[in-house]
Amino acid sequence: MKTVREAQDAILERVGQLSGEVGIEEVAIGESLGRVLAEDISSNRNHPPYDISAMDGYALLYDDIKNATKDEPVLLDVIDDIRAGTMPNAVVSTGKVSRIMTGAPTPEGCDTVIRVEDTSGTDNGEKVKILLPPKKGSNIRSMGENLRAGEQVLSAGTTIGTGEVGILAMVKRAMVPVYKRPRVAILSTGDELEAIDEPFDINKIPDANSYSIMAEMQAIGVEPTLLGIARDTQEELLEKLREGMDYDVLIVSGGVAVGHHDFVRPSLKEIGVEMHFWRVALRPGHPFAFGTASDDRSGEGRSGGTIVFGLPGNPVSSMVCTSQFIVPAIRKMEGHAALFRATYKARLTAPVKDRMGRLHFMRVTVGKGADGAVEVTSTGPQGSGILMSMVEADGLMVVPAEADALEAGAEVTVQSLDPYGFQPETGF
Ligand code: AMP
Ligand code: MG
Repeated sequence: MKTVREAQDAILERVGQLSGEVGIEEVAIGESLGRVLAEDISSNRNHPPYDISAMDGYALLYDDIKNATKDEPVLLDVIDDIRAGTMPNAVVSTGKVSRIMTGAPTPEGCDTVIRVEDTSGTDNGEKVKILLPPKKGSNIRSMGENLRAGEQVLSAGTTIGTGEVGILAMVKRAMVPVYKRPRVAILSTGDELEAIDEPFDINKIPDANSYSIMAEMQAIGVEPTLLGIARDTQEELLEKLREGMDYDVLIVSGGVAVGHHDFVRPSLKEIGVEMHFWRVALRPGHPFAFGTASDDRSGEGRSGGTIVFGLPGNPVSSMVCTSQFIVPAIRKMEGHAALFRATYKARLTAPVKDRMGRLHFMRVTVGKGADGAVEVTSTGPQGSGILMSMVEADGLMVVPAEADALEAGAEVTVQSLDPYGFQPETGF
């Protein structure tokens, strides 16, 4: 049986970025947040385009005012009024200053801007009293201090965050080249399942997995197609699985264990999907399967065919396996460098017992101790069918496979359940 790390490696080495010309698309800047930039971006201008004032105040010569005090202010003539968006009309020289607004170009001759709070205007604004000297050169933002024309400002492979969106706007990229996102289909399987739009039947089990996995996909920007529910017969499974072969990624939940009616793996084999492994040493979720279809049915020039994940049906198992295995694979296809959910260190408040042999993702709440340290506490029963534990939890405490217990006070690794935070390494 593979460890979690081995299973992740086996998946990631078979999953390619959807790159090359066919893997790139242009999206409107308003749709670009969270996408991965597919080209280097250079600045088409200097920003600011000239030296500008950082304050509302007066542009002047430092030597004129270096000895100013409240008791002995320096009195100067105001010769111009420069607003943001207008150009200076006058050159500053000894004894003369220009009133200037934040963002306005500084006039020729000046070497310093003093903020209006350190002055007092007189004579209807025709003169100004300087009450204390700023440092020489203060309050001037130099041309190009933010962006320089022709210089690269963002590089291909960058995940577009909020700051990047602002920079794209500054360099006037209304359309942004990004890597394509995979098309993902989700299929639930099981005779006992009741679809959300089917009449309520007390003897049935509501299909939660289609939706919790859908939500995991939506959090990483993928809008999946729900293929519905396949009953536990080979005919129905084959039909639905064939439908799934039209997608880049097919996620099947349920039916991958060793039960008499677990037809998912044999059916996948029958339609030509090569299964690479189907059990992983983790809890919850060890009957997790991974396969690839060898040919490219998408017609879009991808190097491989559909990538298939078989999730255990238990609702917590399917969510945990999705975030450990499927989310990193999809992020790699999208060109991200940070593939894994963020982790952090915390202190355990109360002891927990565990069975050895598998890496355990234990649901925990997160708080702060009296000393300010981050503390975690188990949510209680950890059954893989107790989906409410995912609701209560703030994180997944990663209990090593070789541990049979953890003491109160132990330093532990916690994987965040924040669906937006990622890091390049697993962190455990
Ligand atoms: P399986 O992996 O098919 O053996 O299913 C394991 C457990 O998960 C069973 O108790 C199923 O009823 C339950 N289960 C399977 N699929 C789903 C689903 N889509 N939503 C909620 N529970 C499910
Ligand atoms: Mg089943």
